[in-house]
Amino acid sequence: MASSMAMEGSVRKRVVVIGGGFGGIHTALGLAKMGVDVTLVDRKNHHTFQPLLYQVALAVLSPADIAQPIRSIVREHKNIDVLMDEAIEIDVKEQRVTLRSGARLEYDYLVLATGSTHSYFGKDEWAAIAPGLKTVEDAVEIRRRVLLAFELAERQMLETGSHPALNFIIIGGGPTGVELAGAISDIARLYMRKDFRHINPSSASVMILEGSPNILAAYPEDLRKAAMRQLNALGVKVKTGMHVSDVQPGYVMVGTERIDSVCTLWAAGVQASPLGKLLGVETDKKGCVLVDSHLNPAGHPEIYVIGDLAHVEQDGKQVPGVAQPAMQMGDYVAKRIGKLLGKDRGSDGPIKEKDFRYFDKGDMATIGRKAAVAKIEWPFKAHWSGFPAWMTWLVVHIFFLIGFRNRFSVFREWAWTYVFFNDGARLITGSQELPGWDMQDGVYGMRGDITTKPLDLGSPEAN
Ligand SMILES: Cc1cc2nc3c(=O)[nH]c(=O)nc-3n(C[C@H](O)[C@H](O)[C@H](O)COP(=O)(O)OP(=O)(O)OC[C@H]3O[C@@H](n4cnc5c(N)ncnc54)[C@H](O)[C@@H]3O)c2cc1C
Repeated sequence: MASSMAMEGSVRKRVVVIGGGFGGIHTALGLAKMGVDVTLVDRKNHHTFQPLLYQVALAVLSPADIAQPIRSIVREHKNIDVLMDEAIEIDVKEQRVTLRSGARLEYDYLVLATGSTHSYFGKDEWAAIAPGLKTVEDAVEIRRRVLLAFELAERQMLETGSHPALNFIIIGGGPTGVELAGAISDIARLYMRKDFRHINPSSASVMILEGSPNILAAYPEDLRKAAMRQLNALGVKVKTGMHVSDVQPGYVMVGTERIDSVCTLWAAGVQASPLGKLLGVETDKKGCVLVDSHLNPAGHPEIYVIGDLAHVEQDGKQVPGVAQPAMQMGDYVAKRIGKLLGKDRGSDGPIKEKDFRYFDKGDMATIGRKAAVAKIEWPFKAHWSGFPAWMTWLVVHIFFLIGFRNRFSVFREWAWTYVFFNDGARLITGSQELPGWDMQDGVYGMRGDITTKPLDLGSPEAN
């Protein structure tokens, strides 16, 4: 395999793109349309539409609704080679990438688009107790844990006459934490309440623990307040300024305060893919590669770093690590490389501006099944919350999903789930064990003081 990968002696210029996320797919498709040969490498066989991962995690959608095989996305472009493999080494002098399989890819241009991953701030042992949400596998694991907590409580109730308080803790109050919290509250109150005979799923309590003074820190104050109101209406408690000091099976510590939890989820921090550091160039504290306005790291005009992995400054601010910039960077790099190779003769015309500029169209986050906050920047400026924002979110996400099949199936699932309160994808797969639960006296459950203390939801305001 390795020899078939080597491009030595080739007269055609070869572009290697690592990562088939938003940035990588846009780069590869843009280049392919100009007739440039591309090798697209991803360790997964699929592209994941991460903004809808939480809907898989909370059993509204199935994994196949939000992920699509990379081969099928690029099927029509014969000049894109797809490799399912993981890049593990980059030799910038020899212009060569080594893959986990042992294969080596030589490049004329390299585009690194390997995104970001969770950060547990050096406490990686917390990952097993409080999973984060980044991949389809993570979403399926979170779905397993959330649904299993209800099942185990029902079983314990039947066997012993009591069950642990259904406290769900989400660490981190960014968009992912807020979306997870709203969705857990919804499934407990609306979708599962008729399904259990011995426990009352609507008694579940959901709490967001956020370290900074505000949730949704990237949103303007009016939308943050609207989000708080919407979360409170769903019964979600938000505690800000709470720095989690320990995460243990069955509970979370904030200083000396212990908060019991049947299921803890992590939405608190991200760090860049470790691949950026392999370039041996300057990175920021999250590991994002500092790039110039052409998206090149210093001293490497043949390497482009895009998407979540790139640290791009614009107008004195860092371009955010969200999907739109990743896609726009992918389009820019495709045009730029196409131009450098003399291929940029597509319908879009030659590259219009020398430097990359992020064009912000806005941001949105949902809060349960019919509320959201939306900061719209284009085609007009507006701040929306509640149902109009949720409708906007719905339309935008359907539009940006890759593939007609996905758009159709997501629309159908949403209609069934939201309008008719149907079962969604409430499947529990894998193990029947949860951190904090164990077998005692022949019953698998939570015991002692862990089991009986409901969350102190206090007043409906943030503490
Ligand atoms: C739960 C969640 C919700 C989000 N919601 C929103 C939202 O509502 N709106 C929004 O705009 N953004 C949202 N984002 C952020 C958005 O998804 C990212 O900013 C975007 O995906 C970044 O694109 P990317 O191409 O840089 O990386 P990614 O899309 O993460 O793609 C990286 C790809 O690289 C591959 N890869 C990684 N390492 C290697 C390796 N060593 N070798 C080979 N392949 C590798 C991965 O498998 C992956 O396919 C969300 C993210 C998450 C996790």
